[in-house]
Amino acid sequence: MDKKLKIFNGKILTPGRILSNGTVVVIDGMIREITKDNVTVPGAVEIDARGNYISPGFIDMHVHGGAGHDFMDATETAFLETAQLHAKYGTTSMLPTTLTASKEKLFDVLAAYDMANEKNKRGAQFLGMHIEGPYLAMNQKGAQDPRFIRDPDPAEYKEIISRSNNIRRWSAAPELKGALEFGRYLKSKNILASVAHTDAVYEEVLKAFENGYSHITHFYSAMSGVTRVECTRYAGVIESGYLIDDMTVEIIADGVHLPEPLLKLVHKIKGVEKTALITDAMRAAGTSVRESFLGDRENGIRVIIEDDVAKLPDRSCFAGSVATADRLVRTMIKLAGLSLPDAVRMITSTPAAIVGVTDRKGLLMPGKDADILIFDENITIQTTIIKGEIVYSRNDAN
Ligand SMILES: [Zn+2]
Repeated sequence: MDKKLKIFNGKILTPGRILSNGTVVVIDGMIREITKDNVTVPGAVEIDARGNYISPGFIDMHVHGGAGHDFMDATETAFLETAQLHAKYGTTSMLPTTLTASKEKLFDVLAAYDMANEKNKRGAQFLGMHIEGPYLAMNQKGAQDPRFIRDPDPAEYKEIISRSNNIRRWSAAPELKGALEFGRYLKSKNILASVAHTDAVYEEVLKAFENGYSHITHFYSAMSGVTRVECTRYAGVIESGYLIDDMTVEIIADGVHLPEPLLKLVHKIKGVEKTALITDAMRAAGTSVRESFLGDRENGIRVIIEDDVAKLPDRSCFAGSVATADRLVRTMIKLAGLSLPDAVRMITSTPAAIVGVTDRKGLLMPGKDADILIFDENITIQTTIIKGEIVYSRNDAN
């Protein structure tokens, strides 16, 4: 028999408006119908939203871990438990993200992805891997391990890409030797090329854009702004992100990485459709530890957790966030002053479009996957539904 859900008595965030007392009908994991009234659905499991919001599930296109795990642990458990942790906070799909590492290590992580992906029934779905590094600018390494930072090597990246069907995105510094060729190669393989950990100037970013790089990784973090060489000023990656209209960006909207005026500035210039919210969460997300490490268990860099963020022990820079997706939306509403529907779009339809999954995800519409959240005004997640299965319910958790 068809498995049916009826979700009713909530404010449904549809692409165009809020339906205040409508019904979402789910059949076999897909949204079948959205009505503006409370309709009868014979044979359905009924979910009363009790006046809360009914929203598309959140899509986190840049996340490293959580619940004590990092994807660099390269284990099935790390993937599955991180996915489950983030599902509790509203993430229904994600791009598990690597850190700068050796080629062999990346192979291990990709293998763990494949194993975990098949078994991932209770967590945020995996939309493909995001490879962050190792082709980064040393000067903008942030918390990436300098021992593994290197220039793009065609033999290496072609081998990595040929070994996996599941690389969806790659972050690299476009000013490195061979980086433009790399961008074209990624584009030819339908992999999102993203500008990251970079000291590029405007002319280089424009070239990068023309060679396939269409997105900017954690905007403002580990990248150049205006620089001056003797008397001459150069626009950096930040200015380029603003100037090149079709370039998309993502921001770690945990309320710590970017202060209120910068959140407002990004929103003002790039807007809701070009700016995705990301957690960039590391291992300590969803835990209460004060010390942790960034990266895998053997090579990880020690970090401290304070002020709701991970930092290098000398406090010279942040080392990833401990945010979950609900916090990003809350931050955009409370700190940056966005409306709730706009904040939600920045982590649903916007990342879906950037990642290229709008045909299935990011919107509450008939024909899309039934990745659905119920949350209150404070973005406290009440229920998480992934492909028509209830994977988290706050009532059960209490
Ligand atoms: Zn990252």
